[in-house]
Amino acid sequence: MSAIAELPLQRDHATTIFQKGAPGRRAFMCPELDVPAVDPEQLLPERYRRVRPPRLPEVSEPEIVRHYVGISKRNFDLDSGFYPLGSCTMKHNPRLHERVAALPGHARLHPLQDPERAQGALELMWNLQGALAEISGLPHVSLQPSAGSHGELAGVLLTRAYHEDRGETRHKVLTPDTAHGTNPATVTMAGLEVVKVATNAAGGVDIEDLRAKADRDVACLMLTNPNTLGLFDPNITEIAEIVHGVGATLYYDGANLNAVMGISRPGDMGFDIVHFNLHKSFTQPHGGGGPGSGPIAVSDRIAPYLPVPVIVRDQDGAFDLDHEPEGAGSKSIGRLRGFQGNYGCFVRSYAYICSLGGDGLKDASEAAVLNANYLLARLRDKNAHSPVAEYLPLAYGELCMHEFVLSGGPMKRTLQIKTLDLAKRLLDFGFHPPTVYFPLLVEEALMVEPTETETKETLDAFAEAIGAILREAAEDPEIARQAPYTTPVRRLDEVHAAKHPVIRETLG
Ligand SMILES: *Cc1c(COP(=O)(O)O)cnc(C)c1O
Repeated sequence: MSAIAELPLQRDHATTIFQKGAPGRRAFMCPELDVPAVDPEQLLPERYRRVRPPRLPEVSEPEIVRHYVGISKRNFDLDSGFYPLGSCTMKHNPRLHERVAALPGHARLHPLQDPERAQGALELMWNLQGALAEISGLPHVSLQPSAGSHGELAGVLLTRAYHEDRGETRHKVLTPDTAHGTNPATVTMAGLEVVKVATNAAGGVDIEDLRAKADRDVACLMLTNPNTLGLFDPNITEIAEIVHGVGATLYYDGANLNAVMGISRPGDMGFDIVHFNLHKSFTQPHGGGGPGSGPIAVSDRIAPYLPVPVIVRDQDGAFDLDHEPEGAGSKSIGRLRGFQGNYGCFVRSYAYICSLGGDGLKDASEAAVLNANYLLARLRDKNAHSPVAEYLPLAYGELCMHEFVLSGGPMKRTLQIKTLDLAKRLLDFGFHPPTVYFPLLVEEALMVEPTETETKETLDAFAEAIGAILREAAEDPEIARQAPYTTPVRRLDEVHAAKHPVIRETLG
């Protein structure tokens, strides 16, 4: 085994701030009061008063700074390296957006501000809605949903309201077996039943299976196009006809919009509802739980059911929030969240759309597709003595859209390392691993999405790292099986951590 494996890795054992400091140590002391002190017992009724003081860490300011800076440096993030996490679109976040979002008029706006005094914010949201309508080819937009999955829930609730209004109860939702896990989860949450549709040999929807399952009980088909295999389904017109033919709606999971912005529009393909992942396609710092935003755009027939309040504009150009609108939102499914949505995400996305313009968005998509195909070709290049083609074949198709899915099946059988081992070993080479084991229908899946802002040098270095790991595994598979070696922690028991989280240990 390589020497690197023996490095002492747990540099700092005091992992929580509660394990640092000493009793009585402070980062800040209040000056003596220059007004008469009031006895807290007179201010608060007994039942609201603490029995014990809160257990807070007792640390100096330098300790706090070092603790949090230290933790931040342990993270792998987009600003420190290549992050080709398939499906997640980890694109660069231009600093201009942060600057604009931090302007006091945006950052310090109170969510309960009277609309009369928040005209600029409402105008920005109005304009963002207009831009998203144009990009999707669907005229009515709601910015309320807080994530793609929340947009999906909104979409399925809208579909349910649409059918109920027509006196129909439909209880099935079709989803291809390539669908993102949030699609079936959403359907279940909305109280409907998931029916899986098979994938054909080309990686698209199996039309015969769709025909067999599309009946009058079907409320909706949820589809991602390009799908999670990174393939655009050429049969989309026929698919739309079949689904509309039985009176169902078509839902477009817009998470892969980065491949088609300015090129093809869900509305033109026949979709009724689409969600955008502003944090993916339109840049936001995300991953690790940062705030997201999942607006939806809908066709005319779905518009009456949109969430309220809706933004309206009067003849003089003044904006307001209408809680009982006519037209869009008149038969509303109600509110989806408090306030209007994650406003900071709106500002960043609008800044992105304005700074790129329509042509720029199209360029971004074209470059994303080009980058993915370049990397794919680089990985499969037999002349470059790349072992990748042999051990990690492309799961479906020949070319891809903005991402592609390799199968680690041959690698597992021949080199005795799994996709997980390859992913962990990539960390030692300074790369965030691609998405692994998704989509489920690909054996040992490795899903790579390079995004448009990465340079050729980065893509080459990544391809070389994969080649190096495979060659290393041919010599000694144990190296990858024990990886990573250079990270603050090694292999974690993720299932145990999710099922038995320890979050209060040091608090007692
Ligand atoms: C990310 C993603 C979602 C869910 O979006 P969130 O914003 O993470 O809730 C749904 N479908 C696909 C294909 C995705 O990549």
